[in-house]
Amino acid sequence: MSRHDNTIGLAPAGGHGFERFDTAWGPLTQWTGTSEHPDPARRMRFFLGLAQPSLLDTAPVPVFLSATRLVRYRTRGERFPVRMNLAPYAGDSGAYSALVLTRDRHSHPWWASPDEYGALWARLIEDIGPPCFVGIQDYPCEPACLTATGLSIDEHQRLTVENYLYLVEQFDFVPWLPTLQGWRPEDFVAHVGMYERAGVDLTGRWVGVGSICRRNADHDIARILTALAPFGMRLHGYGVSLRTLALAGHLLHSADSQGWSMAARRARTLMPGCVHLSRPDATGRRHLTDCRHCLRYALAWREKAMHALRVNHMQRATADPGLWDDPLPAGLAATPSHQRSPGRAHRTRGDQAGFALFDLTDTVQSPAA
Ligand SMILES: [Zn+2]
Repeated sequence: MSRHDNTIGLAPAGGHGFERFDTAWGPLTQWTGTSEHPDPARRMRFFLGLAQPSLLDTAPVPVFLSATRLVRYRTRGERFPVRMNLAPYAGDSGAYSALVLTRDRHSHPWWASPDEYGALWARLIEDIGPPCFVGIQDYPCEPACLTATGLSIDEHQRLTVENYLYLVEQFDFVPWLPTLQGWRPEDFVAHVGMYERAGVDLTGRWVGVGSICRRNADHDIARILTALAPFGMRLHGYGVSLRTLALAGHLLHSADSQGWSMAARRARTLMPGCVHLSRPDATGRRHLTDCRHCLRYALAWREKAMHALRVNHMQRATADPGLWDDPLPAGLAATPSHQRSPGRAHRTRGDQAGFALFDLTDTVQSPAA
């Protein structure tokens, strides 16, 4: 195990008496659970983000896939996973990558018309089986996304609701996940009201929380989730970091992350016993590479997420209650984290563009930080 395996700066996983099961991939925390399960890691559903749809057939835990990946896989004519048969899956539209990272809009499903996007999922569901939920063509509110569209947070929120209403009306057999967008906690609260005025009562519903994936400020995310808690929704955190799980996992009904892939890439992790070869170089030679596409590593990393949820439980049992009882921050969360965290590397919009799809803070910060 590399030194990056414990970058949330907490005790290593294991040793807390929580049961794990021996599998072909190593010891795993069972994915089934309930909100009252004795193991805090099994009180929420964690979807492991994957980039390779072929792994749908073999992954023994709930997985999360972007429509971007699924649609490419389909067009390349590779063997399509027949059925997801071991555990549930969910997917989304890859909105952030569409707005900020993608040059070729034609190939990205987020840019497709809602009719095409709905039809795409109808076909995918036929091929793979029913998902837990499907993300809509939402409009994230990270500064880079607002710049990309030239629109305001309010307009992004309206377009998100509009898309949800259309997809639900036209493709009512797809389990669309209504998604909240915003930047400050009060934006997200306002978005709940916007859904309500459109006739959608989100109380008790499974609801996605967007625009938190690339934020480098776990306390800001915790404040957003705290502000949403009184509405009684079952929140899904899109692309959460391990530190967010450790801080605010108890406020989430479910979450997903593909942070493991970038963790393996950045740390050049090659697990003992793994052999992964690069694509042939100019001379036709293939080189030993890392576990960035490796299900075995992904599942080992998933145990860190399970550990973060257990840590969340233990910390709440002993912590200063003030940490969770902060009043709604007046303007505090409105400032992008890079402008008020001089201790951290500054990230400009350009940096974010090269920042891949997920929050890397799990791996770039040293354990001592
Ligand atoms: Zn590997």
